[in-house]
Amino acid sequence: VSGWSAEERRLADAIADRADELSGHLGRLIGYDTTARAVGDPPREEQALQEYLAARLERRGAAIDLWEPAPSDVAGHRLAPEGIDFTGRPQLAATFRGRGGGRSLLLNGHIDTVSVEPRERWTSDPHRAEVRDGLLYGRGSADMKGGIACMTVAAETLADLGVALAGDLVVCTNTDEESSGAGSLACARHGVRADGGIVTEPTGFDVWAGCRGTSYATVTVPGRPGHAELTHPGWRDGGPVNAIEKAALVIEALQDQRARWHADSSLRHPYLGPPDVVPTGLVAGEWHVTYPAFAELVFTACFLPQQGDAAGWGDPVEREVQDGVQRFVARDDWLAEHPLEWIWGTRVPAAQIPVDHPLVSLALDAVEAGGRPRRISGLDSWYDGATFTLYADTPCIGFGPREMAQGHTIDEHLPVEDLVPCAQAIAVMALRWCGTAA
Ligand SMILES: [Zn+2]
Repeated sequence: VSGWSAEERRLADAIADRADELSGHLGRLIGYDTTARAVGDPPREEQALQEYLAARLERRGAAIDLWEPAPSDVAGHRLAPEGIDFTGRPQLAATFRGRGGGRSLLLNGHIDTVSVEPRERWTSDPHRAEVRDGLLYGRGSADMKGGIACMTVAAETLADLGVALAGDLVVCTNTDEESSGAGSLACARHGVRADGGIVTEPTGFDVWAGCRGTSYATVTVPGRPGHAELTHPGWRDGGPVNAIEKAALVIEALQDQRARWHADSSLRHPYLGPPDVVPTGLVAGEWHVTYPAFAELVFTACFLPQQGDAAGWGDPVEREVQDGVQRFVARDDWLAEHPLEWIWGTRVPAAQIPVDHPLVSLALDAVEAGGRPRRISGLDSWYDGATFTLYADTPCIGFGPREMAQGHTIDEHLPVEDLVPCAQAIAVMALRWCGTAA
């Protein structure tokens, strides 16, 4: 590849020499069960994984900060669910001190993975990495232990070669991304920060410059129970009301909201999808011969950075959706007089950094120097990069191997051939961002 300097080529060659070790390292990470948990579930093997990474990085001279946050460290923040604790689930920040005079860089990844269920549909054990036809299978291979393997080996190789970085290089791995976002929040509140950050999610070698935010709502639609197989008078004369049929109106209202957003040219984004509302849950019915007394509809509202408030939250979007639905369903005389109940629960903020930010251009240059196309994109869902960008004064990009579409799937896998070029690109980005000391 022609775009590398002599020093970058030496670094890239050293990483290429470690190809087998790199995939073995990823296999070991997959071997730790770090399935995301609900609040109150016992810890799994998060601590063992973090200790394994800490030991590797410490051997290369990193200063290790491996700590178990207190619940109070994240209390009062929307990203921290009620009752969250970190017992047995420490966070890790390993710092390679620079010689001074350079920009610091954060390399970040989440160690938690989503459930392997239905486990019986996997071709091989999801917690034991297996390579078949050049693809490395296992839960978390793509999302995102592959990226973690690449970023740790990139940092280790810089240290092994004795590269004297000018700025600090911080390798940080956290829990609680898949469930809430509380893990990276704990890191941000603990003081983990840098002049720029790379979150090594599976971007397919794209440079992510932002992500959408999300607010989740539960809407309770009122009904009035009654015998389902009798003929009744109208509701004003005491008859029952079917909450499922009324919920259908709410769904129609959400579709109407979506259509309006999709038709609005001010809500286009160069690399993020348009805002959306998606029903994801519906619970109703007490008995099969009874008009349901209520229906509970869950939906997710995904929004663009420009729709959020100054802190990235979707409050303005929540008001817009709620008011729009209320107006829409008011045409129904029952719902006009029996209001919906709204609970906006889990929320994540939208975030972006300018596409002409120096970290974005530097990352694109490094990708191109490695022989791959310059591509900016973003994540239509949410990732920890938003937290460091918004709350740790650390503008973040996403960059990692293929590919997010593999995340959360049965037989999740990652192409082995992606590991070396991904680690090489991360190492070159670190070298160029942090600079070298004379
Ligand atoms: Zn992820």
